Amino acid sequence: MIKLQHNVDAKKISTRIEQLAGCSSTSFGVTRLPFTAESSEAERLVEEWMKAAGMTVRKDGLNNIIGRYEGKDPSAPVLMIGSHLDSVIEAGKYDGILGVISGIEVVQTLRDNGLILDNPIEVVGFCDEEGVRFHSTFLGSKAIAGTFAAEDLERADEKGITIAEALKGIGIVDPYAYKSASRTPEELLAYLELHIEQGPVLEKENEPVGVVSGIASATRFSFEIIGKPGHAGTVPVTIRQDALLGASDLISYIEKIALQNEPLVATVGKLTVGPGASNVIPGLVTGTLDIRDLNVERKQKAIDAILTEGNKIAKSRGLQMKFDLVMEADPVYCNEDMIKLIEESISERSGSVVRLVSGAGHDAMAMADVTNVAMIFVRCKDGLSHHPDEFVTEEDMGAGAEVLYSTVIKLATKQ
Ligand SMILES: [Zn+2]
Repeated sequence: MIKLQHNVDAKKISTRIEQLAGCSSTSFGVTRLPFTAESSEAERLVEEWMKAAGMTVRKDGLNNIIGRYEGKDPSAPVLMIGSHLDSVIEAGKYDGILGVISGIEVVQTLRDNGLILDNPIEVVGFCDEEGVRFHSTFLGSKAIAGTFAAEDLERADEKGITIAEALKGIGIVDPYAYKSASRTPEELLAYLELHIEQGPVLEKENEPVGVVSGIASATRFSFEIIGKPGHAGTVPVTIRQDALLGASDLISYIEKIALQNEPLVATVGKLTVGPGASNVIPGLVTGTLDIRDLNVERKQKAIDAILTEGNKIAKSRGLQMKFDLVMEADPVYCNEDMIKLIEESISERSGSVVRLVSGAGHDAMAMADVTNVAMIFVRCKDGLSHHPDEFVTEEDMGAGAEVLYSTVIKLATKQ
């Protein structure tokens, strides 16, 4: 007789996502900041589901929740899967949480099928990825990667409550307990994260699931363009030094460079115009430039081109243009062997593999400091995230969990 194979239960994933969406401090959208009553309620549900799936559950020193499904060799390095439990303000239901719930469902399915893999599997729900409450991202994954900085304990939320005090509030009296959360490279086999795409590529490609090649490197500049203010009615257009026209030329050029260097993305997201009166020629413009690409060399060439063009524009319009580097984040490349296994898993079910770059940061970025990482993206409607209308179909959740299931088996089975 053929043994019946149990499949992942998409309906269950969807029901649990809805249930967790109720753990929110706002009724419009999901607001679940770390170390709050809402997050404790979410952790209680996650713990219950982890136990029901056959895992032993613990919380580490920074309140990351970790469920462990033992492997054939308990001393073998751990395959860690998961994502974050926190959200932004008035967020959607799927960002972060989909990776945790899918991880639990994968373990449940392994157990239903009587499968014990060579390596132990740990499903992790990170306490804080978004960084909304304490203005610092990846707190949970940094603690596990061993890169959480002691001075972060003094970071305060808008009410003046520090991380150390918030931890005390949920029963972690020793703030330095975070040190015990860190794992060594020897303890870990890899970190694999399933997450919603938060962009429109999979929707455009008409595929429910894709594999991430890496997380883009990001560079941020602030810029200042100084011209000469003057009377909007009396100064002839031919002799003006209009800072906003300089900014306009610059922004058009930035778009041109981005289009020539796809998938590089570049954004001027903030602009102020001074003195800011309808009858005064703009004398000062300040703005921001955010530029991201997985290919660091291509990104640097694009930046060089933008700075050179900025100089030309300034010269031809009689302006001064200054750029200040504000932030520079290295790219994270997903592990090629893991990418191949995910691609195999995608091919087994649909055939067409989409590789994409993540323009947004994820826990996998922090985990890359301690182990090999890879990511599976699941299509979301209109590429929308960080918004109550964020949406993933039940069918796509099932497809994502199936790919995760199959990849976990491949990864945690000795070849
Ligand atoms: Zn997220």
